[in-house]
Amino acid sequence: MNDQERVENLIIVGGGPAGYTAALYAARAELEPLLIEGFAWGGQLQNTTDVENYPGYPEGIMGPEMMNEFRAQAERFGTRYVTDDASELELSDGGIQTVKVGKDTYRAKAVVLSMGAEPKRLGLPGEMELGGRGVSTCGVCDGAFFKGEDVIVIGGGDSAMEDSIFVSKFARKLTIVHRRDQFRASKIMLERARERDNVEFLTPYVPTEFVAGADGKIAKVRLAHAETGEEKELEVGGAFIAIGHRPRSELIEGQVGIDENGYVEVSEPSTKTKLDGVFAVGDLVDHVYRQAVTAAGSGCKGALDAEWYLRDSPPDPEAHWAKPAQVVEAVEASS
Ligand code: NAP
Repeated sequence: MNDQERVENLIIVGGGPAGYTAALYAARAELEPLLIEGFAWGGQLQNTTDVENYPGYPEGIMGPEMMNEFRAQAERFGTRYVTDDASELELSDGGIQTVKVGKDTYRAKAVVLSMGAEPKRLGLPGEMELGGRGVSTCGVCDGAFFKGEDVIVIGGGDSAMEDSIFVSKFARKLTIVHRRDQFRASKIMLERARERDNVEFLTPYVPTEFVAGADGKIAKVRLAHAETGEEKELEVGGAFIAIGHRPRSELIEGQVGIDENGYVEVSEPSTKTKLDGVFAVGDLVDHVYRQAVTAAGSGCKGALDAEWYLRDSPPDPEAHWAKPAQVVEAVEASS
């Protein structure tokens, strides 16, 4: 157990583009931020290959490399890191904010929440059981394990296209299964997937079950036509689920305002939550744009909001440490 006596100016929770940008701005404002960056720091970009749409990189950059640079830039100005996952947050309205990381407790006068989002699941039989044995939520991380296999990618957005473009470099044949005939993906990504010789589209179909073979790995996917219900089976060596993301707001449920999809509510255009001293940024808030560059922009706003809050109405750390009146009286009487 490590209960830090120090009350930080600012703790940032979550090490993706939003968190590192918040840390960079806060560090340059001499707030000496502490960033609880997560065990698998870097966020979703850690699972991305080429990032071609982040301004300033005309040749593109690999996602993990970009996160490394974000991290180094924030560190250069004095950001300190805890490379582990926050396990509990006790948020206060204008008081001292508490963040627990396992047995360690950290406190701060302000907190920026930047926990991001994680891949959504279908909730089908075999999906969790076959995780790591053929069913994956990250084509870019796992694609190279499927050399020469027939695989499917489920989804119709940019994530599904990006996974398909990447995984089709290794797979023998790749089928994109989508529940509608229309695609949410951007035109350029859809075209790139269509151009691949070994990529086919199967619509409108939904998967209903992932079935294991005798070796315990995935062998088949059962599918149903989204309109007629007609059933179909595909023999596969891999299945990639790419149906979007869910915000990582579970640690702060019931403490700040959260909408029906789990996104943290802020008073736009600021990053203020309903609690004074608690700010939220990045994919934890944004269900519309969800880009690295918009997350970074939002992280900048979070740091500035926190800086102004600390300048204008900082909480008093002494009030936090003060004992309740009757305890103080009892201690004084006995001495
Ligand atoms: P998304 O745009 O929300 O697309 C999710 C897809 O999964 C949709 O086609 C949806 O179908 C389908 N889906 C959702 N739930 C499903 C279910 N239960 N069963 C079957 N299908 C289901 O999510 P995304 O693709 O992750 O993209 C999110 C954001 O990140 C977008 O703004 C995107 O542009 C961006 N992004 C960009 C890049 C890039 O530019 N390189 C790469 C990845 C992501 P419906 O269409 O029928 O709802």
